[in-house]
Amino acid sequence: MTANRILFIVLDGISDRPCPALMNVTPLAAAKKPVLDKLAAESICGIMDTIAPGVRPGSDTAHLALLGYDPYKYYTGRGPLECEGTGIHMEPGMIGFRCNYATVNPQGLVTDRRAGRIHDTAALSQAIQEGVDLSRFGVEFVFRSGAGHRAALALKGEGLSHCVSSNDPKKEGIAPLTVKALRQGAKDDKTAEICNEFVKQSTKILFNHPMNRERLAQGLAPANVVLMRGAGEMGNFEPFNKKYGLSGSVISAASLITGIGRAVGLPHIEVAGATGSQNSNVKGKIEAALNELKTKDFVLLNIKGADESGHDGLAEQKKAFIEKIDVLLEPLLGLEDTVIIICGDHSTPCCIKDHSADPVPVLVRGDGVRMDDVIRYDEYSCAKGGLNRIRGVDILPIALDLINKSHKFGA
Ligand code: ZN
Ligand code: ZN
Repeated sequence: MTANRILFIVLDGISDRPCPALMNVTPLAAAKKPVLDKLAAESICGIMDTIAPGVRPGSDTAHLALLGYDPYKYYTGRGPLECEGTGIHMEPGMIGFRCNYATVNPQGLVTDRRAGRIHDTAALSQAIQEGVDLSRFGVEFVFRSGAGHRAALALKGEGLSHCVSSNDPKKEGIAPLTVKALRQGAKDDKTAEICNEFVKQSTKILFNHPMNRERLAQGLAPANVVLMRGAGEMGNFEPFNKKYGLSGSVISAASLITGIGRAVGLPHIEVAGATGSQNSNVKGKIEAALNELKTKDFVLLNIKGADESGHDGLAEQKKAFIEKIDVLLEPLLGLEDTVIIICGDHSTPCCIKDHSADPVPVLVRGDGVRMDDVIRYDEYSCAKGGLNRIRGVDILPIALDLINKSHKFGA
C-alpha cells in the first residue's frame, strides 16, 4: 500500500535547549506526550536544519524551505508575504511592506508604536487608499489593514526597489525616521521618495479622520501615523500544485504563514478561535485539517503556541502547551492512507527568548516508511533516528517519494 496524501504539521518553535526549570532537559523531552511518542514509534525520525546548520531561521524563511522553496532564492523581506496574508494579491516585482498604525504626539514624536493596540482599522485604511495619490511617480498602491494595529502596503509600478530602510524608530519618544535608499541607484532613491510621500500624505489623512478624533475624545491613542518596515520584492513563485502535482491548503493563525501559502497558491482555511496563542482552538484546527484531507492531497497545519512560550522564556508553560496539544493530536493515530510529517520550523529556546539554529526534531509516518528504534518525539531521541540530519528543503521530497509523486532522475 502507498499513501496518497500528506499531512504536514509544523509545531512552531517547539524545540529548545536544556532548561534549568525542567531539570536541564528541553520542554519537549520533559513533557508527557503519549500521542507524539506513539507517532514517533511508528515513524522514521531525525533532526532537521530548516535552512542550514548554524543559520537562525525566521518562521517565514523556514516555512518557505519546508515547502521546498529555497529562501535564498525567494526571500528578500517579510513585506510581500505579510501583504499576501492581509489578502493583497502580490504579483512578481511588486514591493511589499509590513506596517503598523502608531501614535505621534503634537511634537511629532512617536508615543505608542501600536496606537493603543487599536483594532478594526479598516475605515482608516480605506481613507488612506482613497486619499493618498502616488500617480506622479507612476505607481499604484494597495493598503490594507491586518490584525490589530497591523497593516500592509504594496507598491506596483516600474523602477521600484526593495532596498529601502524603515521609518520605524523602534522606540518611543523619537520622531518617525525618513525612509532612505539602502544602496545607490535611481530605483532605490525613487522608492524611498515614494515611501516618504506615502507617509506624509497618509499622516495628514489620519490626523483629520473622525475615528481618530473620537479616539482622542475618549482618551485613547489615535492611529495617526503609519510605520513601515520589512520591504521585500515579491518573488516569482512556481505554484505549489504545478511544482508537485498536489492540491493543498494551509491552516494557520499567523498571517505570515497564510501569506506564504497564498504566495504559492495554497488557499487558507479559516478556523474560528484560531489565535496563534496558548488559548488557540487547536482542536478546531486539527479537525479542519482532517476534513481538508478528504478532498486535498496536502495540508500544512501550523500550531504556534510553543513559539510564544519560548519568546517569553516560559519553559513550564511551553511544556504544558505541548501536553495540551498532544491530547488533541490523538485522531492522527488512526489516520490511514496519509504520510504524516511532524516537525518544528526552528527552535525557540526559553533561555534566549528568540529563535536559534539548533536543529528541530522531525518524524515521518506512513505506509512504506522504514521505521527506526526511536520511540519518543524529542530533540534527543530523534537525533538517533533513521533520517539522521536533513535540511528543510529535503523533507517534502521525502514525503513525495513515499506517496509515489517523485520523479526519477536519470534512466
Ligand atoms: Zn516559527
Ligand atoms: Zn518566533
